[in-house]
Amino acid sequence: MLHCLNGSAAFLTTDFSRGEQTGFEEETNMVTHQGNPVSKGAAVGRVYKYVPYQAVVEQTGIRPEQAEEELAAYRAARERAGAELSAMRERLGEGDADKAAILGAHAEILADPALDEMVSGLIRDEYYNAKWAVDRAFSKFIKMLSRVKDDMIRERIADMKDVRLRLLRSCDGAGEVNLGALTEPVVVVAQDLFPSDTASLKREMVLAIVTEVGGATSHTAIIARSYEIPALLGVSGAMDLLTDGQVVGVDAIDGVLATDLSPEETAALEKKGEACRIHALETRKYQGAEPVTGDGVRIDVELNIGSASPEELEAACFTDGVGLFRSEFLYMGRDTLPGEDEQVEIYTRVLKAFEGRPVTLRTLDIGGDKKLDCLELPKEENPFLGNRALRLCFTYPEIFKTQLRAALRAAVAGDLWIMFPMVGSMDDIRRAKAALREAEEELKAEGKPFGPVKTGIMIEIPSIALIADMAVREVDFASIGTNDLCQYATAVDRMNPAVSAYYQKYHPAMFRLIRTVVETFNRAGKPICVCGELGGDELAAAVLVGLGMRKLSMGRAFVAQTKKMITGMTISRAREIACKVCDMETAAEIQEYLTSELRDIL
Ligand code: PEP
Ligand code: MG
Repeated sequence: MLHCLNGSAAFLTTDFSRGEQTGFEEETNMVTHQGNPVSKGAAVGRVYKYVPYQAVVEQTGIRPEQAEEELAAYRAARERAGAELSAMRERLGEGDADKAAILGAHAEILADPALDEMVSGLIRDEYYNAKWAVDRAFSKFIKMLSRVKDDMIRERIADMKDVRLRLLRSCDGAGEVNLGALTEPVVVVAQDLFPSDTASLKREMVLAIVTEVGGATSHTAIIARSYEIPALLGVSGAMDLLTDGQVVGVDAIDGVLATDLSPEETAALEKKGEACRIHALETRKYQGAEPVTGDGVRIDVELNIGSASPEELEAACFTDGVGLFRSEFLYMGRDTLPGEDEQVEIYTRVLKAFEGRPVTLRTLDIGGDKKLDCLELPKEENPFLGNRALRLCFTYPEIFKTQLRAALRAAVAGDLWIMFPMVGSMDDIRRAKAALREAEEELKAEGKPFGPVKTGIMIEIPSIALIADMAVREVDFASIGTNDLCQYATAVDRMNPAVSAYYQKYHPAMFRLIRTVVETFNRAGKPICVCGELGGDELAAAVLVGLGMRKLSMGRAFVAQTKKMITGMTISRAREIACKVCDMETAAEIQEYLTSELRDIL
């Protein structure tokens, strides 16, 4: 009997399994649920339900005769926490020096005699329960540190909070909860993952990701793709449906989450995952290829990055620059804002890695699904339509100014392009440029060296796309953020799984909007790029090139497939394809046409 709640046993036959039928569809007990496959692949593994640890701290107090026992419990918890940190450090491979340094600092905090004495004293002399004592002692130190003006010292606050939580959790006898601490490969299931969660995960320990919320352009999806982790998002009720340790099948090709798989079904899914990996390996051979079309036109392939980590910068050797540096990731997962000098150092590192090729730094883009610990923002009814990105920078001019000053100072090290996100009007462009001029004036007055920069905008709100002919006069370049452009053009919340079917990246309106913008910028002789997910979409790449796009920017995971498409394409064929696509009526029609038309290259 077939139990399909919301889906089908679609993963039994696919392109990747070469259409082989296994013939057991009628006898399966498998239960399936639909999800949105946002990072291709398939895996079978045990569920690990990720819930960030919530420590409950109550002042219960103890009787004097319990003090020794409580003290011993605290010491044991401290020892366990120390052992966790040592084990984590041992597990780190070479090239993880930054992570090792953080863990080392945490071990030092844990071993700090002054802190230890304060906690012990509160238990021994004032008869506080261990958790309350830990919380009080750490809070006192954190308060002291927050008064210090030195940025470096203030940054230790985040480490103190981290260690406090580790110790409180250890007092509860609970195990590790962050994704970086996984010790065996699992399928991570969560209500949602924030960018800072996904940034900490270890690739080899995550077989697949399943979340209840999040769409194809959520940051979880972007990071899953960059790590090549199969990911199925928008599986409603996943946390309630699944239990820790349960074996599940994740088919992030056809969008199916399956439980109660038979051995044959498990084997079929594993085979499908393997076929997908082999196809990816074949495609990866194109990574270092020169992106020139069959008729000799060079298309620049640039990179989207979120940090200056060695792993991200490694891709410098096979890309033409950075088309999108999502600078907001530098602000995440910390309790203090990054200072000017720190930012100068990071931007300089990226510029140097790209050795004179353009590096497009997008100024802080928070709000929407991106939150900061170091900046509390008021709750909004519609955050994606709210005080987001550039608007937020206008609200916090000092934060904006710090970033602009840092960018200008770093620009002496290479070819820096500054790009403003969420631009909706000419006023926005002029105001952002005025802030940049002000930062320049300040640096000039202080006698601080700074380099020349290009100034550009993201085109992700239809209002600016429709006045591209005017915007182009005010800027040096533009880049189309198709993730948000699709969200705003089609009025679909990109994070809401309930409406994900309406989020149609191949909507004809998207290609028409892009056509308007690319033609305008090409006429003006100014660089235009696509840096949203469509830029690394192999089907869309053919259309974009056909519309006149000569620069595409994407996550590292898409470089090879895009180069494969470019090298297998000619401009005349791409033009023909683009022409047909712009006359089609629906996204489904376009997708079907492109999949069939481009089969020889895919
Ligand atoms: C976009 O909107 O297409 C984009 C690149 O920005 P983000 O995905 O970071 O919002
Ligand atoms: Mg955007």
